[in-house]
Amino acid sequence: MTKVKVAINGYGTIGKRVADAVALQDDMEIIGVAKTRPNFETVMAKDKGFNVYTLADRVGAMEKEGIEVSGTVEEMIEAADVVVDCTPGKVGATNKDLYEKAGIKAIWQGGEAHTLTGCSFNAETNYDEALGKDFVRVVSCNTTGLCRVLSPLDKEFGIKKARVTLLRRAADPGDIKTGPINAIVPNPIKLPSHHGPDVKTVIPNIDIATTAVKLPTTLMHLHTVNLELEKECTAEDVESILAEQSRVRFVGQGITSTAEIMELAKDLGRPRGDMWENCIWNESITMYEGELYFFQAIHQESDVIPENVDAIRAMMELESDASRSIEITNKTMGI
Ligand code: NAD
Repeated sequence: MTKVKVAINGYGTIGKRVADAVALQDDMEIIGVAKTRPNFETVMAKDKGFNVYTLADRVGAMEKEGIEVSGTVEEMIEAADVVVDCTPGKVGATNKDLYEKAGIKAIWQGGEAHTLTGCSFNAETNYDEALGKDFVRVVSCNTTGLCRVLSPLDKEFGIKKARVTLLRRAADPGDIKTGPINAIVPNPIKLPSHHGPDVKTVIPNIDIATTAVKLPTTLMHLHTVNLELEKECTAEDVESILAEQSRVRFVGQGITSTAEIMELAKDLGRPRGDMWENCIWNESITMYEGELYFFQAIHQESDVIPENVDAIRAMMELESDASRSIEITNKTMGI
């Protein structure tokens, strides 16, 4: 089988994980990763055997640090079938001209606006929409986590109204510049937050409103989900639907916090201690006065990674059936 050639532009938190996940697939290969700085991640990319590319004006800086580059970002793009843009939010959009000129398919991340691609993606929800598309956006970690539960519950019971509070990690663990370190920050203060409209880019007809606060933690986000459903059902009915979702994991057995979930991910031997699935406390799934409530934790650094792999498969039409792509991705990654 000819493998689809994938380039990763931006090799940070998301890019390095997407590169590793793509490298596990039989139908895809990494032809290069682009880094702007000669840091430990650049050295790691070389050690893993990836070809490293950089911006034209950074070649000298890389070589000065003893890092041999395979060429410029433009050259990497020329050699690829699809590029996964994992540059920081808003930087990605500035690369669109480059991809269009090269006639290459491109995937962006949740830091970009829906309007950049017109197609916002979550594998379980709208895989078919991305089939053969040139430009797709894999939605953010929070939106991915919400789509994974709202979409199956909407299909089964009909969601009349979704109200979600997002308790967000302030920064990623490796980020030394972002705060707060001792405050709770309503963010945004103007309500509702932008997270609800972002879910609507994938599930257009849902009535959802969200609020969000930033907390001094780096591990995971936590969502308090409250739903009014069309059909009458019990907490057990909801639990059985969520139990069927391959990217949902129930937690309990002494797991009472995001810290213990991250410990579990490490104990499971997950690369980088990643937890790709939504973690739902099944004990929290409750019907109260006709409304559904539950808690779920989302590992912001990794839940979007399998979604990027499925997005490549849909855009390149390697697999037309969503469930088959999801199954392959899950199996190769160990989900
Ligand atoms: P990051 O800062 O960890 O990594 C970005 C990488 O891109 C860095 O290596 C940086 O050096 C490089 N870069 C910067 N400018 C570049 C350029 N012009 N060309 C090539 N590379 C360049 O960022 P991240 O957290 O991986 O975020 C990437 C995208 O993923 C953003 O859209 C973000 O919103 C989204 N996202 C992030 C998270 C998260 O929790 N970190 C979760 C889901 C989605």
